[in-house]
Amino acid sequence: MKRIAVLALQGAFAEHEMMLRQLGVQSFQVRQLSDWMQPKDGLILPGGESTVQCRLLIQLGLLAPIRKDILEGLPVFGTCAGLILLARQENGRPRQGLSTMDTDVCRNAYGRQLGSFQTTGNIQDVGTRIPMTFIRAPYVLRTLSSQVRILTETDGRITAVQQGSQLATAFHPELTTDTRLHEYFLRLTEL
Ligand code: GLN
Repeated sequence: MKRIAVLALQGAFAEHEMMLRQLGVQSFQVRQLSDWMQPKDGLILPGGESTVQCRLLIQLGLLAPIRKDILEGLPVFGTCAGLILLARQENGRPRQGLSTMDTDVCRNAYGRQLGSFQTTGNIQDVGTRIPMTFIRAPYVLRTLSSQVRILTETDGRITAVQQGSQLATAFHPELTTDTRLHEYFLRLTEL
């Protein structure tokens, strides 16, 4: 049976666990290194505050082992802050996060007034009219290699990308009732 690790240091991890449960998939929380050592078929990085998450990952000694496993092919799905953690650059400068995706991101891109909004969009290979919830969301400024595939844009900004078995969205599919993105991610864990 498939088991998905959910990073549970901070942020909206419970909603991802609920969505996985709904899809009949087991998950477990990653709070420390011993959790990470468990067998897993994929990893979800939830939304929250990327600066806090990054600091905790370093303090707990999780950053390097998680990074290594992703680089060795462990499928990963990052939402919002997770998309930031995965990005190699922020506003053209190297980032100290997991930095496994060839993306350059811009944080809090929509400003305070438009901090949160909902829309729907078509996502390549995933489906049409997918509900998207943005909360102080980042977006992808540009891709840094041809390995990154743009799955969707929202108002001309890149908001979902894939690089091999790494998937990242600027929005929060776990805060909607639409399970298609999680199903798409689970298919990546089968490749
Ligand atoms: N603004 C947050 C950050 O920079 C991300 C917001 C979110 O995950 N909803 O980390």
